[in-house]
Parts: sequence; structure tokens; C-alpha cells
Amino acid sequence: MSNMNTAMIEKYRNNFLKEVEANVEEGEWVKMCMQCGVCSGSCPLGPYWDHPPQEIFMMIRAGKREEVLSSSSMWMCTSCYNCIARCPRGLPITHIMHGLAHYADRLGLAPKEQPTRKFAKHFWDNLTKKGRVNELKLGLKLYFMNGFGEGIKTAMKMKDVGLGMWKSKRLSIGELWGGHSIKDTKGLHAILNKAREIEEAKAKKFEG
Ligand code: SF4
Ligand code: SF4
Repeated sequence: MSNMNTAMIEKYRNNFLKEVEANVEEGEWVKMCMQCGVCSGSCPLGPYWDHPPQEIFMMIRAGKREEVLSSSSMWMCTSCYNCIARCPRGLPITHIMHGLAHYADRLGLAPKEQPTRKFAKHFWDNLTKKGRVNELKLGLKLYFMNGFGEGIKTAMKMKDVGLGMWKSKRLSIGELWGGHSIKDTKGLHAILNKAREIEEAKAKKFEG
């Protein structure tokens, strides 16, 4: 169990709703849910999730911490915004879903092999390094994220696409040794650090 997870269990003992309000983006909205089920009924992927949005909110209020945070459901949200457009209480459901996924990941409880989680991590690391996505490195990371053998198979399958991109100068092998960056990467990193600070300050505000 991660240190952060142990600390949070200790801190919010038996009050998962409060923990969500303090640490999850837009989490303070969860208590406004009236369990009408419109979001779950509107979600194109809801039937395929272990727990559609309405159920997730009910489980948070019921204190089912482990079940919610280790669920793969939040990672399935495609940000289609159907639920937000229809929720009679105006809950920012999409943002809460992503916020829950992010928080579960910080605690080390998110399902490790969930493909969206893996992709999101690779994309974020790639993007934030230089402020621009290095498509070649990201592509290779994704091909090989499920092991070497799987990576070779995928690379072979995609070789014509890769060649086409290379011929049309959309892909450069040089990207492997550096690649494009924005002018002010220091500035970008300062913004990201500030965002982290704001997140932590928000969590402290709810502590009392
Ligand atoms: S539509 Fe809104 S109020 Fe209804 S269950 Fe979903 S989140 Fe709750
Ligand atoms: S935004 Fe996410 S939770 Fe909302 S309806 Fe679309 S897929 Fe479902």
C-alpha cells in the first residue's frame, strides 16, 4: 500500500465523501447527486462499465472507498459530455470521473493494466517533457507497452503507415534523439508546478 494511501485512510477514516471533496477535481459536487440515473442512462459506455456514474456517486456516499478507487470504470469515460448536458443538478460528471481516475492513480490504487491509464501516463510524460508531443517516441512506447513481442507484432502491422508518414515528412527518425520543443519549457514546468500547488492547497482547505 502506498504511503499516500495509508495517510489518506488515516486522515479521512470512515469519511470517503469528505476525502473526495478535498482531493478530487470537482469532488465537492458529489453530494448534490439526487440519484435520478439520467447520467448512467445517457452514457454510451455505461452498460459496459462495472459502475456507471450514478452508481459511483452512490458508492462514494456509502463509503465504498476501495471499490471505487480500484475500479476501471472512471478510466472508460470518453469525455463525450452527454451526462453533463443532461444532469438535472448540473453536476460536472465528466470532470469528476477524470478527477477520480487521477486521484486513484496518485494513491497507487488504479488498475495497473487498464489500457487508457497506460496511454494517459505515456502521453502525459511525453507531452510535459518538452511541451510538444514527440509522436515517434509516443508511438513506440505504445507499441511496446504490452511487452517486446507484442511491440514487434504491432510495429510490423503498422509499418506501411509509418513508411507513408516518413515519406511525406510527417515522421522523422531524428525525433528519437531530441525532437521539437516549445520555446519556454521552463515556463511550462513552472505552470505545472503551480497547478500542483493549487491542488494541494485545495486539499488543505477541506481538511478543517
Ligand atoms: S444525472 Fe446528475 S443527479 Fe442524476 S444520477 Fe447522474 S449525477 Fe446524479
Ligand atoms: S462524459 Fe464520460 S461519463 Fe459522461 S456520458 Fe460521456 S462517457 Fe459517460
